[in-house]
Formats: sequence, structure tokens, C-alpha cells
Amino acid sequence: MKIICIGRNYVEHAKELGNDIPDEPVIFMKPKSAIIQPHTPFYYPEFTNELHYECELVLRISKNGKYIQERHASNYYNGITVGIDFTARDIQDELKKKGLPWEKAKAFDNSAAIGKFIDIKPDFNKKNINFSFFKNGEKVQQGNSGNMIFSIDKLIANISMYFSLNIGDFIFTGTPAGVGECVVGDELEAFLENESLLKMEVK
Ligand code: ZN
Repeated sequence: MKIICIGRNYVEHAKELGNDIPDEPVIFMKPKSAIIQPHTPFYYPEFTNELHYECELVLRISKNGKYIQERHASNYYNGITVGIDFTARDIQDELKKKGLPWEKAKAFDNSAAIGKFIDIKPDFNKKNINFSFFKNGEKVQQGNSGNMIFSIDKLIANISMYFSLNIGDFIFTGTPAGVGECVVGDELEAFLENESLLKMEVK
């Protein structure tokens, strides 16, 4: 399986990091080893001094496909949750400056926290999904899928031009504004609508 991640998919977030609004999705990947396993503590990585949280909607791929058309895209995922794309922002800034790949900043062990999946039902309105993220009980991020630059189905179509999608893959769909640092001892919690699907502590 693989984890495909989208960067800069919300205007306000692209602006807060000083990036241009992209004309097509920014895509990067994390390996399987990036997933935080259940009941495993998350330790602050020793190679960074600026660990950021990015809360995002995450899709679960349920059908193999390639060159998927946008109008058929909804047949290819069957679950949704919230996740955290942990980012070593100091390292990413260095890599960006040098024009180098982002993996060391984005794809390290335990850099992908994934919440409990909700099955997608036929009446699911993918254009109006609210999600929010709390640090130590304070809301720091709030997003709505309607504000994505590239909708869920557009992402599936675009990603699958380059990468086959396989059952069990995950797609992190990008983070809204409000990203920031987390430190040892922080309690992190992410909600889809009003349901808490992910709760963890930075150790
Ligand atoms: Zn992200």
C-alpha cells in the first residue's frame, strides 16, 4: 500500500506558508512505515526542532484503478477519516530552498496519523464535510471539503494519471490554514463533523 498526499489544496493554507496557488495538485508520498500503528506512542522525532501538525481529510481506496475519470471517481473510495500529516517544517524549508525532494521532512517514520474510518454512505455529501483539529483542547484548525482547490474526485482523477490506485491506499487531501508547531506533551485530537476519530499525545 502507499500513502499519497496533496500539498497546497486550500487557498488560505498556501498563503500562510507563502506559496502560490497551484494550477494542478501538488503530490507527494509517504511509505507504509510512516503510519503510526495502533497503541504505539508517537515520539517527537530527534532530527527536527520544528514539528508541525497538518490535519487533513483522509480517503481509503477500495478499488484498483488507473486513468480514473472524475465522474467515476466516487466508485474508488469507501471510507473517510481525519489524519495528521506530521511535517518537520525546519527541514522542509531547507529542502525547498535547495529545490530538493521533501521526503526527509514529510515521509519519516510515524509521520502519518490516521483516524478511525467512517464508511461512506450513498447520501454522503463530499462537497460539504467539516473537520476540525484541537491542540490541548483549543481549536487550531477548521476545514470544509467545499474549500478544496481540487475536489476529492478531481484529486482521484489527477493522481491516477500518474499512479495506479490500489485497494488499501490512503490519500491525504491537504490541510486548511492554521498549521503550527507541536511539542512534547501536547494532546492532539481531530474531529470529522462532531465525531472524534483521532486522539494522541506527543511523547
Ligand atoms: Zn499536508
